[in-house]
Amino acid sequence: MNRRQFSKGVVVLAMGVRTGIAEGAAAGATDQPGTHYEEPARKLPAREFDVVVAGAGTAGVVAALASARQGARTVLVERKGYPGGTVVEGGTALHSFYNLWKAFPGVAKRQVVRGIPQEIIERLAKVGGTSGHAEMTKGFDYDSVCTAIDTELYKLVTFEMLAEAGVFVCVNTFLAGAILDGPRLRGIIAESRAGREAFLAKSFVDCTAYGDLAAHAGADYTEPNDYPVANSIGVANVDVEGYHEFLRSHGALTQVAEGRRSGKDGRIVRLDADAGRLPKAFADGAGKIGMSLVTTTVHDNYFMFIKLNFKMRVSPTDRDESAKAELELRRRQAAAIDLLREHVPGCEKAFIARTSPSLCIRRGRRIVCDYDITHEDVVEARHFPDDVLAYGFHDLAPRLQVRGGGTYGVPFRALCVAKTENLLAAGMLITSDHRAHMSTRNTVCCMGQGQAAGTAAALSAARNCGSRELPYADLRKALEAAGVHFEA
Ligand SMILES: Cc1cc2nc3c(=O)[nH]c(=O)nc-3n(C[C@H](O)[C@H](O)[C@H](O)COP(=O)(O)OP(=O)(O)OC[C@H]3O[C@@H](n4cnc5c(N)ncnc54)[C@H](O)[C@@H]3O)c2cc1C
Repeated sequence: MNRRQFSKGVVVLAMGVRTGIAEGAAAGATDQPGTHYEEPARKLPAREFDVVVAGAGTAGVVAALASARQGARTVLVERKGYPGGTVVEGGTALHSFYNLWKAFPGVAKRQVVRGIPQEIIERLAKVGGTSGHAEMTKGFDYDSVCTAIDTELYKLVTFEMLAEAGVFVCVNTFLAGAILDGPRLRGIIAESRAGREAFLAKSFVDCTAYGDLAAHAGADYTEPNDYPVANSIGVANVDVEGYHEFLRSHGALTQVAEGRRSGKDGRIVRLDADAGRLPKAFADGAGKIGMSLVTTTVHDNYFMFIKLNFKMRVSPTDRDESAKAELELRRRQAAAIDLLREHVPGCEKAFIARTSPSLCIRRGRRIVCDYDITHEDVVEARHFPDDVLAYGFHDLAPRLQVRGGGTYGVPFRALCVAKTENLLAAGMLITSDHRAHMSTRNTVCCMGQGQAAGTAAALSAARNCGSRELPYADLRKALEAAGVHFEA
């Protein structure tokens, strides 16, 4: 899809800049024959910033922190009421601050992702909101550590950090359009109960996961629809040891990690299992509702995440199909609780304590950037002259792993949205190859990309230059000064 298809209505603002506002461009928003509404042009209130970060999720929080800490006036626009995104709503743990040293005998233990992502974990640790980097004692050919979080404390801690850094945080605010000036992005259109307004800036970072900003700005993209969507639940009134015993007694355990739980170290914080070894009624029931057996926790009587998956026929940008998926996922959540109550000792009175306000995606739009990280780049542990991050975990491990327990580099070019001078992308929206994406989409990689993109956006804004004109040496120096670890 291209700019023309996505941005049907071009409106001229008083300031003489073009907007790329979508009018019913999303799939599912089709007219009834003969019915149209011509939206009148209007003057919007506008505010000036140096950097706009769209989406306060896994990557966006880190991007906004990195930008503000470089001294840039930074606005962060988030459609929900809190920061966190998929890291607090989707999965099980943060993968992986470390390379897979345990899977490769002789490989030294080293932390490859540091900087702001590590700082968030340290802040969480102070309030009992993480297991820490809990070592996997079983299944460590998948990952060598599991960093489990308390999802609610993650929201609070990151919100506090954004406030401390002076980020202008606009929650409950939807990014609804882009203001273009030739190949430059000039601003965004945001909508909230305060009305419709423009945020103008010099540099922009799209961390919306769906790639909403890039799509509004006319970037090229594809919609691979290559993953299931999910709505994961937090389940209370459970017994972690009971679940462990249930899995162990059937010889089904595949993963165990031990770390801090309810204030005590050396406790189980992650479990996973081979469904094929569990009682048929349970395994079949879980299979029918796309329920993963993996869970993590930082509390004795709580499963932080139980994932319910559903494969949509079409891309999750389709509003009407995603409405059907939202209903189906909530049915699956209720069925999951029934299964746990019936089969797992200690879960007889389990109940849902948290759901995601909307379904979580593993991929929406894949935005075309200057460089597309390949499967070979990842598994061959390739680094680039413009590396902004080293990463070493692969979600398909142990089947696919980074060679020799090493790391690959994410090049800055992989974050530069093609055809636009001053727009960067970070998070699940980069990388077209599904196998490579199974590494770059992971939480800690997204966070690292966010730090790189936010830093670059701020430096470019300060120099009044486009993303590609920013000298790499300056970006590298700033990232190193902020604690980012490089391996090439
Ligand atoms: C079910 C599930 C399980 C997973 N399990 C794991 C796991 O165990 N370990 C792991 O490492 N990874 C896991 N992942 C992958 C990982 O969590 C994600 O790929 C990663 O968190 C994506 O980060 P992001 O910043 O790209 O997007 P997000 O964290 O989703 O951030 C996007 C943000 O943008 C906001 N937004 C979107 N559109 C707009 C708009 N128009 N206006 C304003 N705001 C907007 C959203 O509300 C959200 O806050 C899982 C993913 C899913 C879905």
